[in-house]
Amino acid sequence: MPSLLQRYFAQLELIKVTHSKCGVLSSAVTLLAVSKTRPAGDVATLYKAGQRDFGENYLQDALNKQRLLAHLDIAWHFIGPIQSNKTRDISRYFDWVHSVDRLKIARRLNEQRPANMPPLNICLQVNIDQEETKSGLSLDELSSVIQPVLDLSNINLRGLMAIPKADKSMGEQRASFKKLVDVQGEVNKQFGLNLDTLSMGMSDDMEAAIAEGSTMVRVGTAIFGVRSVKSRV
Ligand SMILES: *Cc1c(COP(=O)(O)O)cnc(C)c1O
Repeated sequence: MPSLLQRYFAQLELIKVTHSKCGVLSSAVTLLAVSKTRPAGDVATLYKAGQRDFGENYLQDALNKQRLLAHLDIAWHFIGPIQSNKTRDISRYFDWVHSVDRLKIARRLNEQRPANMPPLNICLQVNIDQEETKSGLSLDELSSVIQPVLDLSNINLRGLMAIPKADKSMGEQRASFKKLVDVQGEVNKQFGLNLDTLSMGMSDDMEAAIAEGSTMVRVGTAIFGVRSVKSRV
């Protein structure tokens, strides 16, 4: 079995190779290491190897790790479903939130972001394949929340995020990601923006996402191995 570090470096290499093979759709692809349910020691190991961006889904799990790793200069990204009663801690303890799927959540994060901190970077999550069970804004909802979100001074809208349907062919994966890319292009045009982040691609569809212009891939399993528990601590 390859070690954590071997898998990590293999993933960095795969990102590099895929990105250069696919031309220059995005200027660079940032690897977000999704460390949900993983021990703080694994995060520290990757940090020592140069990794700075880590993604978490479960608030309590994340806060525990952040306390243990407070001495490290980590950018913490919240990527999981957001309940209203969690926004206070999320706005305070994270640098990025990728999973904003309602205006109400954006407003709460804005109100609760401490005044002495820089604006919170957010992505709006789009339900790109219109799945009933999946969170995310529909395309109609998206166009109606952009301006209200832009008006929030403690929030810095950076781009869009999506999780396409699972178990699709490479071609279908690419078609879903392309939809998100096109939507971001339309938003930029319509609102005169320069949103620079496309948070798309996970272990199973990372190459398709990069081929379509992802700027940030969220990778857990391919780096840390299969998660044994769906911890909700
Ligand atoms: C868990 C998770 C990931 C990472 O998924 P893997 O398949 O383990 O790479 C990425 N994005 C979100 C939103 C997740 O919840």
